[in-house]
Amino acid sequence: MTEESPTSPSLENLLTEDRRFPPDPQFSEHANAHPELYAWAAADRTGFWADQARELISWHRPFTEVLDWSGAPVARWFADGELNACYNAVDRHVEAGHGDRVALHFEGEPGDTRTLTYADLQREVSRVAHVLTGLGVATGDRVAIYLPMIPEAVIAMLACARIGAPHSVVFGGFSAEALRSRIADAEAKVVVTADGGYRRGTASALKPAVDEALAGGGPVEHVLVVRRTGQDVAWTEGRDVWWHEAVEAAPTEHTPVWVEAEHPLFILYTSGTTGKPKGIFHTTGGYLTQTAFTHLNVFDLKADTDVYWCTADVGWVTGHTYIVYGPLVNGATQVIYEGTPDTPHRARWWEIVAKYKVSILYTAPTAIRTCMKWGEELPGQHDLSSLRLLGSVGESINPEAWMWYRRVIGGDRTPIVDTWWQTETGAIMISPLPGATTLKPGSAQVPLPGISADVVDDEAHPVPNGGGGYLVLTEPWPAMLRGIWGDPQRFADTYWSRFPGLYFAGDGAKKDEDGDIWLLGRVDDVMNVSGHRLSTTEIESALVSHPSVAEAAVVGAADDTTGQAVVAFVILRGGNEETSGTVEELRSHVARAIGPIAKPRSILVVAELPKTRSGKIMRRLLRDVAEHRAVGDATTLADASVMDLISRGLDKQSPAASED
Ligand code: ATP
Ligand code: MG
Repeated sequence: MTEESPTSPSLENLLTEDRRFPPDPQFSEHANAHPELYAWAAADRTGFWADQARELISWHRPFTEVLDWSGAPVARWFADGELNACYNAVDRHVEAGHGDRVALHFEGEPGDTRTLTYADLQREVSRVAHVLTGLGVATGDRVAIYLPMIPEAVIAMLACARIGAPHSVVFGGFSAEALRSRIADAEAKVVVTADGGYRRGTASALKPAVDEALAGGGPVEHVLVVRRTGQDVAWTEGRDVWWHEAVEAAPTEHTPVWVEAEHPLFILYTSGTTGKPKGIFHTTGGYLTQTAFTHLNVFDLKADTDVYWCTADVGWVTGHTYIVYGPLVNGATQVIYEGTPDTPHRARWWEIVAKYKVSILYTAPTAIRTCMKWGEELPGQHDLSSLRLLGSVGESINPEAWMWYRRVIGGDRTPIVDTWWQTETGAIMISPLPGATTLKPGSAQVPLPGISADVVDDEAHPVPNGGGGYLVLTEPWPAMLRGIWGDPQRFADTYWSRFPGLYFAGDGAKKDEDGDIWLLGRVDDVMNVSGHRLSTTEIESALVSHPSVAEAAVVGAADDTTGQAVVAFVILRGGNEETSGTVEELRSHVARAIGPIAKPRSILVVAELPKTRSGKIMRRLLRDVAEHRAVGDATTLADASVMDLISRGLDKQSPAASED
């Protein structure tokens, strides 16, 4: 279908971005990834993954089968192989003589530090594996983990993997109710938690939320409690066990439980940007293979020299794949940090980069835009010259934020990898390969070798280069979700019913003239203005390209004449005050950058935007405000007061700003 029919879903292709960054030959010379990987994988996709699985993962029993897709949409990868994820992440490095290598440099928010080598990690995970078994956890039983970002979170996850007990990590910032529903859904037998953690300079309690979550009864038999802050905790005799007491008494040697490749490794709930979170579950062999491959090639990891830092929390999939399993399976040395970027001051991250000589940094656009808001003087006060590669994940990175990231943090020299993936995909799917790809600011660019993605129209036909539509994955991949825990029907409906035979990611995307992929926002957020389908991402990026704007969120609000109208919410960069001309200036800026059709009907300057706890903008709540409705389900919102402030701001706004 080449002609634009009235029902065509094609997004208008408006914003153009012409800046290009070819690979630095010196970087390419030593890069892990080579352009030939694409051709190799294209010629024999399953053979390619089988080779990666053999090369990157240690198997207790080698597999002979690669992919079984006969039970689609549930894939089986390497199904007759046996392995253990914890053995791959820890023991084998010690056996290979790397026991003294630092696995974790832990930086606590109050400034306390701990260093764990791979040998330390082996001892600790062995002890905790014994403790869990002693508490009655058998292979296949689920364990909920509700901890701050402390080494025990990593150790607990690995200890579960060691005994074949799927973990369900619940972000430590979630409420008792969120924890209760996740424990119930996964039927967890044990909860691992802490007395509390440090957040913005104070010790905040965690254990009371667990007590509240368990108050009504349920499947949990024991609570294992890490002492982190030393605050008083209520104690339920017979149920609660101190981590340090149990661990001290446990033997330091433990034989990992070998499991089949398709044995469940974890359950994890999506971040809830679009609605009720889904309990995604992943299995062992395929997940580890793609996780190790992507971590090695997308981040160009050199295990013996790099210091890697992913700023995510282990409560999100990024923490699972790119703090716990990817880096440790690859034998990396990494930094983990407990606190927020602005405690005790707004340069804390840059201080940490300088202190540990971090060479690879992986973070989210929300953090980059926040740093833009705070100003470039702060990173400038620290020596960031150790950085050689930067990564981004979680949302589209606006081209201007990409440029800022590269110039201010990357010293104008580091490649940036914009990585598209989801809780459901388990590992990175679309990303440039550093040293191989010419980078385009704002684009995730190309499916990785061995991954098949496309952009299709309403009838599932691939759109031509230059066209827009829906992002789909057209072939099974090793780290793909094996389902929604306990709900195969929801799994089929959510991902496989929109385009039969294709995995529908829920995101809009376009292909540029080279066929590179640009993510355009969630399809639920696409706006239809006078029959033009506009992307939230493009208009937001146009706003962020104005020198006074740090961050923007755009929604479509019902409009009598145009069907929907563009309503924007912006945060100004540090040092910029809103004046009487700001809104008009920004409206004209958008019109100039992408065309009059995209000009916002109204723009509201705000101090904060509503975000999930993982830092993603929740546009559906802004749409409620823009359409003067009661704000919908905001339980996954990080800061509930943000919406009140915005609603009040919109009510106050002068009508003049809403007229053209
Ligand atoms: P829910 O599915 O519950 O609404 P969520 O989609 O935010 O939550 P995640 O699995 O954490 O939960 O996020 C995956 C989504 O994040 C992707 O579908 C996409 O919308 C967005 N995303 C992640 N990385 C990128 C990226 N590099 N560019 C653009 N969007 C991205
Ligand atoms: Mg999602």
